[in-house]
Amino acid sequence: MPELIIIGGGPAALTAAVYAARKRIDTLLLSTELGGQPLTTLGIENYMGYQYIEGPELMQKFEEQMKQFPLEQKIGPAVIALSRLDGGFEVKTDNGESYQAKAVIIATGKRPRSLNVPGEERLRGRGVTYCAICDGPLFAGEKVAVIGGGNSALEAVDDMVKIAEHVHLVSLTPLTGDQIVIDRVIGAANLSVFLEHEVVEIEGSSRVEVIAIRDLKTGEQKKLKVGGVFIEIGLIPNSELAKGIAKLNKLGEIEVNCACATGIPGLYAAGDVTDVPEKQIVVAAGEGAKAALQARRYLQRL
Ligand SMILES: Cc1cc2nc3c(=O)[nH]c(=O)nc-3n(C[C@H](O)[C@H](O)[C@H](O)COP(=O)(O)OP(=O)(O)OC[C@H]3O[C@@H](n4cnc5c(N)ncnc54)[C@H](O)[C@@H]3O)c2cc1C
Repeated sequence: MPELIIIGGGPAALTAAVYAARKRIDTLLLSTELGGQPLTTLGIENYMGYQYIEGPELMQKFEEQMKQFPLEQKIGPAVIALSRLDGGFEVKTDNGESYQAKAVIIATGKRPRSLNVPGEERLRGRGVTYCAICDGPLFAGEKVAVIGGGNSALEAVDDMVKIAEHVHLVSLTPLTGDQIVIDRVIGAANLSVFLEHEVVEIEGSSRVEVIAIRDLKTGEQKKLKVGGVFIEIGLIPNSELAKGIAKLNKLGEIEVNCACATGIPGLYAAGDVTDVPEKQIVVAAGEGAKAALQARRYLQRL
């Protein structure tokens, strides 16, 4: 049984892995993939040491650094359950494996929020996407819709007006992004804006063909012909594993103290999945380091 299991493959988990391995803690890293959210980020200008670096390149460097140290990794399967045992924890993965350890760090980050409308799940990957930066070029020359009114949606619009034939921006609320971003984006000749409208349905037989939207003020419904729908309505924490074990806040984030401790002996959490404010790579990496060092102190006391 390893002493420590780290769940996740983003900045928090990979940093925790380096710190744990350098302290010679017998560690197992379990993640669906390596890289996390920065894989969907083009330019990063605020990770110290790099004036500018693309997200995938930065995470490649994290991975290379981690691989310098002896560390067991299982990349691919998702962790689907975490339970407490006498003197430790058990985790189960979706390929039927289970692993036990004396301590666990949850660093599972966040995922895009779904609209939860008919057609969304069925057409996911068939025109429904959650990452304009990653998938935008696939829709060059097409009509598309961007759903959301915050900075992520506006950035998606900014990208898509340059490559799509036409972009419809549909927001449930008035725009909530930064004024500087709104000023840069609104006014493009190939952009129509539907504020205070909700998406009712995404339609299409094998690919997205139409979205149905409804004006919240008048109740009037419209159908927009589009080949792609970019859903940019925020992120939710991947904290399901901790439900019923650790405390979650109203946003579903795992509550931790300044030592990344959840209050359950041996269970730590780090990065975007926690209630630590300011979701940034440098913050997640710092929290990952702290969680591993605190887990070591815990293991030494056993
Ligand atoms: C579009 C965008 C742009 C951004 N730009 C910047 C920027 O310029 N600068 C900046 O500092 N920050 C930026 N951020 C924020 C930054 O990416 C996050 O704060 C950071 O990635 C959080 O790291 P994390 O390790 O906590 O989680 P994540 O990066 O979310 O990684 C979580 C990891 O856990 C894995 N995982 C999740 N659930 C499970 C499970 N059940 N089983 C196994 N593995 C699991 C995932 O596959 C992933 O590898 C941006 C975010 C986005 C979305």
